[in-house]
Amino acid sequence: MSGITRQQPVSETADTDVIAYRLHGNVYLNITSRCTLRCRFCPKFNREWEVQGYLLRLHQEPDVPTILDAVGDPANDREVVFCGLGEPTLRLETLLESAAALRERGAKRIRVNTDGLANWRAGRDVTPELAQHVDALSISLNAQNEALYDRHCRPPETGAWPELLEFVLCAREHIADITLTAIDGLPGVDIDACADLANRFNVKFRRRVLDEVG
Ligand code: SF4
Repeated sequence: MSGITRQQPVSETADTDVIAYRLHGNVYLNITSRCTLRCRFCPKFNREWEVQGYLLRLHQEPDVPTILDAVGDPANDREVVFCGLGEPTLRLETLLESAAALRERGAKRIRVNTDGLANWRAGRDVTPELAQHVDALSISLNAQNEALYDRHCRPPETGAWPELLEFVLCAREHIADITLTAIDGLPGVDIDACADLANRFNVKFRRRVLDEVG
């Protein structure tokens, strides 16, 4: 039995999918359960979809009107954060359209938590498109080198790590607020070395704690 108190989501679909939920003064958007990576530490690969009391497994990917309905009024939220147990840039058009509409409805700040592999998947630089509607990116670095990254994040093929670093360089050109993150406590991950890497890229760094939404 879980010791976590089940939270009340902002809104659910008829299937009770949690699309938007509020924590820490932010509203978080859960728009896909799909990922490019298969991170060993990811709760969903341990059949655990509950994060901070919210069941984040989606049975259906929400369209833009459903996302907007789920958020309601974003004007009082500190940030709108695209973040869930899935990679939001896998639904780039939906993400951009939702972000634009939320901005029109008064969203103060829009952030995307991402694996940083959108350019790799798209075969082009999508960061200028993101920059039109997104104020900040939080990019999962997760390791200080490629071998460790591949071990923990299990990309579908080799080459993800250099693509991730290239994405950081591209994003930096267009989006002012970039943060690299790594999870403290994963075997072999040196948080100071990850922070040094972020420093060399001239972007911010944040140490994360496993299973904490942020
Ligand atoms: S990118 Fe995030 S959601 Fe996807 S597998 Fe890794 S930890 Fe899980």
